[in-house]
Amino acid sequence: FATLESLNFDNSYARLPEHFYHKVLPEALPGSHLISFNPEVAVLLDLNPCAINPSELAHYFGGHAPLPGSDALAMKYTGHQFGYYNPDLGDGRGLLLGEVVNKQGQRWDLHLKGAGKTRYSRFGDGRAVLRSSIREYLVGEAMQGLGIPTTRALCLIGSEQQVMREGMESCAAVLRVTPCHIRFGHFEYFYYSKQHEDLKRLADYSIERYYPDAKDAENPYLAMYQQIAERTAYMVAMWQAYGFVHGVLNTDNMSILGETFDYGPYTFMDEYRPDFVSNHSDETGRYAFKQQPDIVQWNLTALAEAFLPMVGEDDLKAVLREYSHQFVAYRNQRLSARLGLVTSQADDAGLIESLLSLFAAQRVDFNRFFRTLCDYQGDREQLYPFFFHREAVDTWMDQFDVRLADEAASFPIRRQQMRSVNPKYMLRNYMAEEAIREANTGNYVPVNQLLALLRHPGDEHPDMERYSAAPPDWAGGISLTCSS
Ligand code: AMP
Ligand code: MG
Ligand code: MG
Repeated sequence: FATLESLNFDNSYARLPEHFYHKVLPEALPGSHLISFNPEVAVLLDLNPCAINPSELAHYFGGHAPLPGSDALAMKYTGHQFGYYNPDLGDGRGLLLGEVVNKQGQRWDLHLKGAGKTRYSRFGDGRAVLRSSIREYLVGEAMQGLGIPTTRALCLIGSEQQVMREGMESCAAVLRVTPCHIRFGHFEYFYYSKQHEDLKRLADYSIERYYPDAKDAENPYLAMYQQIAERTAYMVAMWQAYGFVHGVLNTDNMSILGETFDYGPYTFMDEYRPDFVSNHSDETGRYAFKQQPDIVQWNLTALAEAFLPMVGEDDLKAVLREYSHQFVAYRNQRLSARLGLVTSQADDAGLIESLLSLFAAQRVDFNRFFRTLCDYQGDREQLYPFFFHREAVDTWMDQFDVRLADEAASFPIRRQQMRSVNPKYMLRNYMAEEAIREANTGNYVPVNQLLALLRHPGDEHPDMERYSAAPPDWAGGISLTCSS
């Protein structure tokens, strides 16, 4: 095992030319203390989760001293925010501390979010508040538990510092861990500022690090773009299959590794509502649930434009056309699995579409519906309460019965398969709200309980049973904004 002070850093991004970033140290957070740490992520970094020293974590990730081996920097990027290009973006409150290479040779970025001001902070204070830090910390594990590509975090640090957001709020910091902090917006920066040599350099760096097999292709840049598009299609397919709404799908929040990235006012929907807008600041509903596949394609088009100096336009357009098919195929694959269908038939897409329409028309708590469906053997009594009108359900269930009869698996096997993709526990907004409320009084037990629960959302957790029930009435009144 390594210790925090002997992590195996090798900082390749810091070796890129100086105008790719701005080197700056974290600013100390007064009264920093450890709220939670994530043993699974510790293992990824070769840390011994049984020998974690809370005050050491609070010291380094509270910004009181540079972590030995790190070489902190704020990355420069730009991006399209709500459809408009903004040239002034960059890490305004997060720092790439460096890259840790573990014993298996995996390379992990350590990024401290809430680390203080940088050259790119604009009018911001460089801080993140406890509320949004808890939400980011928990959802990384919730996504991981569902098998949705995501960034994760090593730990959550609290502090005594307060800043103005929705009233005065406590500052916090999250140590984000993922292989990739390169956003679509990194490419847009070099493209729009007409630094096309550096655009190529960034592309070469990205190929070397994330898409090494693209090197063998006739045009490696096209090959990388293709793989980015396909991974991104898979990511958004998984969001749509589980009712995840990102909330701020700007191109600076899109990872070139196809991971869900930069969590803000996200929501796992309690009820299936295609028009649902998670971000209260999104007045036009640009980032509504049903818009996500198209918006992501729009973002991929913005990335394609930045690739124009390296790849022909027709080739890029062909990839973008593929995206739509890949998205539908991946989404239906997952929804079929959620229905217990292992084989595939021509009419399955229709069966899925009619079910989604039914969910939308009757505002079904569809994640609970799927979990209940795992136990289905012909008796519909457990399923009716999810709907207002039985008739429509019966029509669909009749079709489903016929389809299910073509599946070979015995009931216990099917139930086991279905449970593995139909979680009992989802990170609903009200659960995060409760954990935030407690954390604001100094009680960090719920945050830590939820972290463990959500990492294994398909398992039984008898002491946490209440979280598998319908959400409380007040859940519908929760309002989330960009303020974080
Ligand atoms: P986001 O909406 O989280 O994607 O952030 C958009 C941009 O604003 C990024 O460049 C962030 O670094 C920056 N930003 C967000 N919050 C702050 C803050 N409190 N201080 C400085 N910069 C911020
Ligand atoms: Mg962002
Ligand atoms: Mg953000």
